[in-house]
Amino acid sequence: MSSIPYRGRFAPSPTGPLHLGSLLAAFGSWLLARHAGGEWRVRIEDVDPPREVAGAADAQLATLAAFGLHADGPIQYQSRRHRLYQAALDRLLAEGKAFACHCSRSDLAGQQGIHRHCAAHQLRPHPAVRLRVADGSRVMFQDGLQGSFTQQVDREVGDFVLLRADGCWAYQLAVVVDDAEQGITDVVRGLDLIDSTPRQILLQRALGVATPRYLHLPLLLDASGHKLSKSLAARPVDAADPLPTLRWLWSALGQADAALDAAGSVGELLQHAAAGFNPALLQKASFIVPESPPG
Ligand code: GLU
Repeated sequence: MSSIPYRGRFAPSPTGPLHLGSLLAAFGSWLLARHAGGEWRVRIEDVDPPREVAGAADAQLATLAAFGLHADGPIQYQSRRHRLYQAALDRLLAEGKAFACHCSRSDLAGQQGIHRHCAAHQLRPHPAVRLRVADGSRVMFQDGLQGSFTQQVDREVGDFVLLRADGCWAYQLAVVVDDAEQGITDVVRGLDLIDSTPRQILLQRALGVATPRYLHLPLLLDASGHKLSKSLAARPVDAADPLPTLRWLWSALGQADAALDAAGSVGELLQHAAAGFNPALLQKASFIVPESPPG
């Protein structure tokens, strides 16, 4: 058991520069950690080489530093933690909670892509490994912002992948092993990941580790209602001029603009933000629609 009452984290995948949406998750998780008097960690989720962009992890860390968001404790890299994922997988396999699966996408097409039983037409040299999800696996959790969230994992998701057929660790396994091993008590991230949370809770139960508290922040939409990643505002944030962006994110998080008026530097702004942050002002709505991009 950790003696730290609150340990949050920001866990970007190095697939490109940080955009406003990811910085909102970083700043939001930092604010909630500071408000709780807790720690804030950073973990680079680089277990998916096909999606990785060379240099992106360093660029993301440089951007976080320019915005004054410094991790408490060393940065963790998932690419250096294979041993932990392998040990978890071996245990699940040995206990019959996971199984090798030779199904291809087309084998699963007849089941709407949801795996309930193997329908492989041919054996693969390197099968995927899936978690066995029992019939009737209904997971409910209380999100810190969105309220109660329920998913019928067997019917809506099915047996899910832990190790992909291409040999890469699945996000679900790596994130659960790491959150547990790093003693993360509070996961704060974007609402696009809320669908994954019931899978992560099932996996935590299968591994016998604690379930952290979860809070999913609203996603940013542009004025035309598109997800930010498809809009102009998905451009990388301007690390050379962090103050307007931090003020914009602060207001997107529902906080009172005036609290940051006096701040003339990043350090000052973050000090005021940590002191003035009020979680009760976070919008529960699914989306934040900013009036105009920062700058
Ligand atoms: N690495 C994931 C992403 O960038 C986030 C993981 C998480 O916060 O659980 O989308």
